[in-house]
Amino acid sequence: MINPKLIEQFVVAPGTTVNLKSYVTDWTATDAAQELGKNVIKERAREILEESRKHLDAAQELLYASDTHSVLLVFQAMDAAGKDGTIRHVMSGVNPQGCQVYSFKKPSTEELDHNFLWRYMKALPERGRIGIFNRSYYEDVLVVKVHPEWLGPGQPANPNEKFWENRYEDINNFEKHLARNGTLVLKFFLHVSKGEQKRRFLERLNNPDKHWKFSEADMAEREHWKDYQKAFEEALSATSTRRAPWHVIPADRKYVARALVADIVCTAIQDLKLEFPKVSAEKMAKLAAARERLEKTSNSDNPEA
Ligand code: AMP
Ligand code: MG
Repeated sequence: MINPKLIEQFVVAPGTTVNLKSYVTDWTATDAAQELGKNVIKERAREILEESRKHLDAAQELLYASDTHSVLLVFQAMDAAGKDGTIRHVMSGVNPQGCQVYSFKKPSTEELDHNFLWRYMKALPERGRIGIFNRSYYEDVLVVKVHPEWLGPGQPANPNEKFWENRYEDINNFEKHLARNGTLVLKFFLHVSKGEQKRRFLERLNNPDKHWKFSEADMAEREHWKDYQKAFEEALSATSTRRAPWHVIPADRKYVARALVADIVCTAIQDLKLEFPKVSAEKMAKLAAARERLEKTSNSDNPEA
C-alpha cells in the first residue's frame, strides 16, 4: 500500500480552487522521486499494481457477498492521457462478472432528448459491482463548455455562468444521492502534459499498429488545450466533495498513474470495512443436514446401484 500521506497530495480538497499547474504531470521528476531513482520507482509501481490487483479481486468478491454497496469509478482526461490503459491494467485481475465498463461517446439524439444525467443513470453499477465510467456526466460540463454549440436542442446557444453552476449543483446532488444509497464514488482526472500528449499522438501517427487510435478530431481538440484545462479546473473545483472526491493523477508516466489509481481504489474499498454475511444457526443446521444427505447419495446414475 502507498503511504496515505503521499496520496493526499493528489486529492482535491473540497472547496478549494484548483490550479492544474500546481499538480505534477510527471511524478518521477519531483525531488522526492529523484531521490529514489527511476528504476526503483518503476519496479515499486509494478509491485503496487500487482498487489492492488489481488486485493481488488478479493475486495470485489466481498462487495458482491455483502450486497450493501456498489463502487463507481469515474475517469476523465485529455485525449491520449491513458484512460483505457489504466482501466485495463487496474481491473485486469477482477472477476469480469463483478465489474462493468461504460465508455461514453457523443450523445445520440435519443439521449439528447432527455435530461443530461439520464444516460449515465441507466449505466450505474448495481449493488455488489464495480462500475467504471470511461468519460461520464462530467463531459456535460467539459467538452460542451468548450463547445457550447454541441449542447443539443433545447439548450441555450450562449450558456451563462449560472447554467454551468446549475449543472455542477445537479452533479453534486446526484453524487450525494448515490453516496446515500450505498455507492462509493471515486473520480480520477488523469493529468497529462501538453508535451506528453504530443509525444503520444506522434507515436500513434508513426506506429502502424497505433494508427487506428489516431483521430483527426483529437488534433482539433488539442488546439483548445487551454479552454479544456480551464473547464477541468472549474469542474474539479466545484465538484470535489468528501463523499465523491476528485484525484488529480500524474499521467505522464503510465506506470505511475496505474499504480496510484489501483492503490486508491483498493484502499477506498477496504475502508468500507465490509464483511461476509453471517450465517444463522438455522442455516448452519440446514448445511449440516445437506452435507449428511449428500454423503449418503450414490455416485452412480443408476438409482438401484
Ligand atoms: P473517445 O473516447 O476517444 O472514443 O471519444 C469520445 C468522444 O465523445 C469525445 O470526443 C468526447 O468529447 C465525446 N463526448 C463524450 N460525452 C459527450 C457529451 N456528453 N457531449 C458531447 N460529446 C461527448
Ligand atoms: Mg479518442
